[in-house]
Amino acid sequence: MSTAPLNSLLVAKFGGTSVANFDAMIRSADIVLSNPAVRLVVLSASAGVTNLLIALAEGKDPDRRAYHLDEIRRIQYAIVDRLDNGQVIREEIDRMLDNIAMLSEAAGLATSNALTDELVSHGELMSTLLFVEVMRQRQAPAQWFDIRKIMRTDDRFGRAEPDGAALKELARTSLLPRLAESLIITQGFIGSEPKGRTTTLGRGGSDYTAALLGEALQASRIDIWTDVPGIYTTDPRVVPEARRIDEISFEEAAEMATFGAKILHPATLLPAVRSDIPVFVGSSKDPHAGGTLVCNKTAHPPLFRALALRRRQTLLTLHSLNMLQARGFLAEVFNILARHFISVDLITTSEVSVALTMDTTGSNTIGDSLLTTALLTELSSLCRVEVEENLALIALIGNNLSQACGVGKDVFGVLDPFNIRLICYGASSHNLCFLVPGADAEQVVKTLHSNLFE
Ligand code: ASP
Ligand code: MG
Repeated sequence: MSTAPLNSLLVAKFGGTSVANFDAMIRSADIVLSNPAVRLVVLSASAGVTNLLIALAEGKDPDRRAYHLDEIRRIQYAIVDRLDNGQVIREEIDRMLDNIAMLSEAAGLATSNALTDELVSHGELMSTLLFVEVMRQRQAPAQWFDIRKIMRTDDRFGRAEPDGAALKELARTSLLPRLAESLIITQGFIGSEPKGRTTTLGRGGSDYTAALLGEALQASRIDIWTDVPGIYTTDPRVVPEARRIDEISFEEAAEMATFGAKILHPATLLPAVRSDIPVFVGSSKDPHAGGTLVCNKTAHPPLFRALALRRRQTLLTLHSLNMLQARGFLAEVFNILARHFISVDLITTSEVSVALTMDTTGSNTIGDSLLTTALLTELSSLCRVEVEENLALIALIGNNLSQACGVGKDVFGVLDPFNIRLICYGASSHNLCFLVPGADAEQVVKTLHSNLFE
């Protein structure tokens, strides 16, 4: 294999469906080999494995443990069995499976967030081991690299925050020399905290890993290979007429990711924007179909770019007469929310009440609900709290939305059959968001798409 100079290095990330089975892995390997600039490959766990590991970590249902373990074994063995020289790797996978069995037994006795992350990390550890073998079968020597050596994080298990400065330094000293020698295969999603225990970055965190590594190594591009050929004007499963967007700006894509388009992990674009590294999103099932390039500037940014939908939103309405002509009420509310690690998404206020939704992006591996009794009790000491569930957030993404005329009429004029629960408009020129009852969400998206995009 030819070795490209490191200054034009590309990071390629393959999601769970792109490493789901042997054939998917072969397709992904061929994508890697088709571009000698790809020097670093970041992988998710094979599709389904993370969910199974989380089920084991919850330790709730010991009777189901054997079933979950068998499922994981079945998914990984289906790959081992197709390898020409599977013996050595089979032993390694067996060791991983033994470990998983042991840890899940421990979880059956007492669960902990640290134990969950330790268990869950085996998905990425196994997929990367297997992929190295698949590369070998394609006559391409590749080295396995344990990302935990350089992805240092804090100890918020389930949703740990990486230390970017440490990563930059460690990537330079321990990863760069290896990249000069051969292709490197490593894990997305996992890291290690100061005591060396394994952490995870939150569901879907492999994209974020790839972007952070791209930034640390000053990559010229980050390729995210998934099961859809790019970013669409809206989810094609909801609206079959949705169109692929060939080029989109960082700002627009970040709004989409944050507001529910499941294609990129919401944090992915932060490092890319900071370092101005374009991100390509394509389908590993059909690499020649092209994809979407997310970059700094695009030609002719349209007024309406895309529609995103985020389900299962909870609206908190806080009423208090103390708010009337008072100072510091919102500060107090935000203080409480911050203490409970909640970031606020949408917010509107009136004279005596404030309504807000909570940011649920990149939900954590541990799966607790954000709305805890402790939080509700603390808020109730300050004001009357109303909770409405099962709402959906619709975000219209575009450019200069807050400067243009007629946006309100274009959007709400066609939505008169629907109850619009809350509207946020004007804070960002890139989005207009509102809440509707969950049951109406798809119809609202269809109606808007046909009026604004078709
Ligand atoms: N395997 C992890 C998950 O399913 C991380 C990822 O796929 O990005 O959430
Ligand atoms: Mg993913």
